[in-house]
Amino acid sequence: MHADNFTNWLHNQRRSIHRIAVLTGAGISAESGIPTFRGEDRFWHGQEPAQFFTPEALVTFPNECWVFFDHLRVISAGTVPNAGHQALATLQDTHQVTLATQNIDGLHQRAGSSEVLELHGTLWRVRCDNCDFSVEDNRTPLPELPPLCPGCNGILRPDVVMFTEALPADALHRAWQAAEECDLMLVIGTSGAVYPAGAIPDIAQSHGALVVEVNPNRTALSDEMDAVVRGTAVNALPVVVQALQA
Ligand code: NAD
Ligand code: ZN
Repeated sequence: MHADNFTNWLHNQRRSIHRIAVLTGAGISAESGIPTFRGEDRFWHGQEPAQFFTPEALVTFPNECWVFFDHLRVISAGTVPNAGHQALATLQDTHQVTLATQNIDGLHQRAGSSEVLELHGTLWRVRCDNCDFSVEDNRTPLPELPPLCPGCNGILRPDVVMFTEALPADALHRAWQAAEECDLMLVIGTSGAVYPAGAIPDIAQSHGALVVEVNPNRTALSDEMDAVVRGTAVNALPVVVQALQA
């Protein structure tokens, strides 16, 4: 449906919505200028970004990986939250909101969302796999690539979840719980192809919540949604949030 029809659809559900769980993916940041990795606009000189998201890559070609991650940090630092991020932040004024994101860019926090569950970690923290060193680091570009651990002199890594790695247990548990307890779940800008995050909407629905997708394109999750709003985060999300707050 078009975003303008969401108000009517919501009204017809005759449900009172108090608790809202939100799951976002790379699509919500696309209009801020951070390309998704799967879209046609995916960047990096024709190279596949996914190749840098493995623990093995960081060991085998750390310099190339860090040039990539530093580039992603520089791009992210140069962007600002868009109307979609902002709409979600205002939703906290009227509803109990739990926001889980697969993004690593920090834009939800910068828009004012509190308690963001970072399912795939963040670009803005680096840590060491050899010892337990971990630090917030917002510098762009980093002065030294690859960055080295002050504790053991090993190569640091961004605190992001790479392919084959487990999601942070606490964030995942809380996102799962929010899905079980919410009245409505918004699924925004995610292909649903990455598990286990892609399974979260199903949890919400099987516990009785309405699940609503906001995405300009069809996804692996579209068919199971109660409502599909075909629009971008910037165009559709403010309309959807306004309907929820009416
Ligand atoms: P993905 O495939 O889940 O996200 C892309 C989705 O966004 C698609 O369904 C697409 O239709 C949708 N989309 C595109 N433009 C949109 C818009 N303007 N509004 C709403 N939706 C839109 O994720 P991915 O790009 O394959 O990334 C995989 C993983 O890589 C992520 O989960 C994340 O960990 C990391 N990543 C992070 C960022 C970021 O932090 N901004 C960006 C790219 C990738
Ligand atoms: Zn170390």
